Amino acid sequence: MLRRALCFALLSLACGRSPAGAQIVRVADLNTTQIRALDRTKTVVFLPGGMLEEHGPYLPAFTDGILSERLTGELAGAAVAKKPGWTALVFPQMPAGSSGSNELGGRFVFPGTYAVRPSTLRAMYMDLASELGDQGFRWIMVVHVHGAPLHIRALDQAGDFFHDTYGGRMVNLWGLVPVLSGWGNAMGAAMTAAEKKEDGVSLHGGMDEHSLMLHLKPELVSAGYKQAPVVTGQTMAESFTAAKAADWQGYLGSPRLATAALGKKIWDSFAAAAAEHMLAVLNGADPAQFQRYADLLEKNPLYQEWIKATTAHDEALDAKERAWLTRRR
Ligand SMILES: [Zn+2]
Repeated sequence: MLRRALCFALLSLACGRSPAGAQIVRVADLNTTQIRALDRTKTVVFLPGGMLEEHGPYLPAFTDGILSERLTGELAGAAVAKKPGWTALVFPQMPAGSSGSNELGGRFVFPGTYAVRPSTLRAMYMDLASELGDQGFRWIMVVHVHGAPLHIRALDQAGDFFHDTYGGRMVNLWGLVPVLSGWGNAMGAAMTAAEKKEDGVSLHGGMDEHSLMLHLKPELVSAGYKQAPVVTGQTMAESFTAAKAADWQGYLGSPRLATAALGKKIWDSFAAAAAEHMLAVLNGADPAQFQRYADLLEKNPLYQEWIKATTAHDEALDAKERAWLTRRR
């Protein structure tokens, strides 16, 4: 088991060539005969997402994608360890996501963010749901560690479409409150009162994400984080306001407080929560019983304003593209 998980982690081409024997396989490596041979009732498909999204001056633009890829590897390992006889079928990472956190400050253009519209994201995952559903797959895990409201909603909707159309389960794990809580709980338990006050309502690119990257990919964290000025609010409204400042650098919180040790605690906690809920679903739990993060966000007036602005932007971009297509026909 461990060897196979390790094979996956190393992305060894020698792994997973035989669906009959291997448990974690990359769909990109399989031929049609091997794909046909997969037992659909015991195959869980992993769709790792990722997003190019600004994370300020000290973190790489693919921070969310790095977390998503790593989490997918751990979840695939957990699936085959806890479900003997099952296959984890891992798709290539798809670096498309919606609503970069620069939108917190009302900005749709920001270096490092290369987003697709929520309606594009929804269509992409609904299309994939159809492809997989029509080929008989019934278990799909979407692993996309990015928290914007319409991004999460789009992935949730694709999952609901899959369920209603094919009767299977397509779960947007990062859209579930109990999975996200694994992150928040670890922060709450590990940070001192003084650190919580300094980091404030960090929302994006704060002590937590810098800590996670110091744990997972320290070579991609710019050393300047140690002198990073604190940019935050003590309430959510204050943090939204801070992000609207003309010279906002793209993060909220106090990156200078970050440590690899905290990053490991947050990682272990939310990865465990994600694995627990994935396994619950694979064991028959209805994912509808888990509270959705998008439902919570939609009740918050600050997020309602964000959703409204993003929806208008989505429509404006759609109109612009359609107008061009019409002219060129
Ligand atoms: Zn993000």
